[in-house]
Amino acid sequence: MTLEAHKETLEFKAEVSQVLDLVIRSLYSNKEIFLRELVSNASDAAEKLRFEALSDDGLYEGDTELRIQITVDPEAKTLTVSDNGIGLSRQEVTETIGSIASSGTRRFIENLTGDQAEDSKLIGQFGVGFYSSFIVADRVTLVSRRAGLGAEHGVRWESDGRGSYTLATVEKAARGTDVILHIKEDEKDFLESWRLRSIIGKFSDHLALPVQMPKEYYGEEAEQKKDEPQEFEQVNRGTALWMRNKSEISEEEYHDFYKHVSHDFQPPLAYAHNRVEGTNEYTALLFLPKKAPWDLWDRDQKHGVKLYVRRVFIMDEADKLMPHYLRFVKGVVDSDDLPLNVSREILQHNRKIDTIRQANTKRLLGLLETMAKDEPERYGEFWDEFGRVLKEGPAEDFPNRERIAGLLRFATSHTDSDTQRESLDGYIERMKEGQDKIYYITADSPAAARHSPHLEVFRKKGVEVLLMSDRVDEWLTSHLTEYKGKQLQSVAKGELDMGELADKEEKAAKEKAAAEHGDLLARIKKTLGERVEDVRASTRLVDSPACLVVGEHDMSANLARVLKAVGQNAPETKPILEINLTHPLVRRLESEADQGRFDDFVLVLLDQAQLAEGGQLDDPAAFVGRLNKLILNMMMAGG
Ligand code: ADP
Repeated sequence: MTLEAHKETLEFKAEVSQVLDLVIRSLYSNKEIFLRELVSNASDAAEKLRFEALSDDGLYEGDTELRIQITVDPEAKTLTVSDNGIGLSRQEVTETIGSIASSGTRRFIENLTGDQAEDSKLIGQFGVGFYSSFIVADRVTLVSRRAGLGAEHGVRWESDGRGSYTLATVEKAARGTDVILHIKEDEKDFLESWRLRSIIGKFSDHLALPVQMPKEYYGEEAEQKKDEPQEFEQVNRGTALWMRNKSEISEEEYHDFYKHVSHDFQPPLAYAHNRVEGTNEYTALLFLPKKAPWDLWDRDQKHGVKLYVRRVFIMDEADKLMPHYLRFVKGVVDSDDLPLNVSREILQHNRKIDTIRQANTKRLLGLLETMAKDEPERYGEFWDEFGRVLKEGPAEDFPNRERIAGLLRFATSHTDSDTQRESLDGYIERMKEGQDKIYYITADSPAAARHSPHLEVFRKKGVEVLLMSDRVDEWLTSHLTEYKGKQLQSVAKGELDMGELADKEEKAAKEKAAAEHGDLLARIKKTLGERVEDVRASTRLVDSPACLVVGEHDMSANLARVLKAVGQNAPETKPILEINLTHPLVRRLESEADQGRFDDFVLVLLDQAQLAEGGQLDDPAAFVGRLNKLILNMMMAGG
């Protein structure tokens, strides 16, 4: 029987070479991370085996001592990371190593800008794993056999990382995977035992799995042991970090552990480590990343909070252990009380899991509250990365909505900056005497919100308005209608009710004007016909001639635009056109005898109101035509 059966040479998918190039360039100053990535993969493979063996202990093939071994061959200039974990079948090798198949990865590639500095940041969020081997190796060989398959089902994969790889079926007696790096001439450092030991100490100390290296002997002893079989010794500490006493864990160890679970390259922004005793005993170690991962919006992203039962890895089940709006949290939950053979179905309706999720949520909200209070700048960093996700919270987690709302930050009309954010508590402190509502506006850009005509009267009276321009804000405001007993009120909906803030005389004057100019309003309404629900005198406008509002219970114009943009049907709600009766243009309109010109004028007013709030016109060309006609008219009259 040939040892290398069914050998083939295959091209990488185009993206692989692209990613590889980028990895090598970006991580050049951080070379040793390749070892962390390989050891992490090996440790994952061991955990997978342990889990699968719970239902089929034949997979152990008589060898239950899971471990990772790192060896060097100075003559061949190779470094080998070898595990006795689950291993890979031929097909699995093609799927996981040879191609970049997952949609998430494809998205990562789409995100590449071509700008090196920008792209290396992406790499940090992406986690390149296995491919980082090519930073230090000019050729990589992977030999693997899936646990449970016969020795003849081994597979050998090899590549120089330049576009193609070979795949062959080989004999492999021991299950698991050997990754053999043919170290580059100028990276010979990585063949030195002391160098490897120090890297492993740094990256892998907290792994529960032993990492072993050949025992070293010196002098006489070396002479004696020369012909004996190689002995190994453990070079990492080998206790799961989260099981250790908090007081004995250094900041740096937490950071290294975070990098391991998250595949992130930067330290975390913050973390919480708790041991819970009682009827539901577990340990939770949760991290807040510094940067949003590239797959934050991907509903099936995989690296989240890992579930362990008594140190055995069970699964990556972020959504069971953390609510969706905190999906950026990474870490580990290790339960003492769940059964080891826990399945996804059991997790779905498990009281213990529910309790853990609720406690995790409270812990995280607490962590954020403390940060917001004591380190507002750091909280700002968090907000910029994850604020939009947190805004999903009040809708998803009703019981905690007030706490979540306290953590929200918004741009406001109180400052001139679109990047400065304010809390709802800050808003309440600045509320005017007699003001009983929290006013906000939603628009599709910060500028459209800030310059909307709906804000005019608020600005005049010095009343602050929250400026919301994230898509999720519509979702947020439809679920968060109150905070600390104060109602949240859109300034673009319904009759403007400024409560005690309204100036009585002003109001009376407007009402008088509305009565006096009733004919004008009726005439405008006649021109607009079915286009609008109603035409009425406005109390919100100061400088603009007109604006659009929707009914108190109608969908906001901005939400209708958002839905349209994502291809969904929005119910047709007709707007109400509000007219500023004191505006000179409107005054002029009143005396317009030529009905054709009156109609043009009114239609231009309607379209303007639409444009001013960031809307789009159904027929922009008609608007331009009418406007030009009016301008021309005016010029002729003037000339
Ligand atoms: P990631 O670990 O982020 O998924 P990698 O490129 O490091 O990305 O690995 C890709 C996949 O290859 C892994 O998800 C795993 O399925 C498989 N793999 C890598 N190394 C091993 C190993 N030592 N044993 C078993 N499977 C492995």
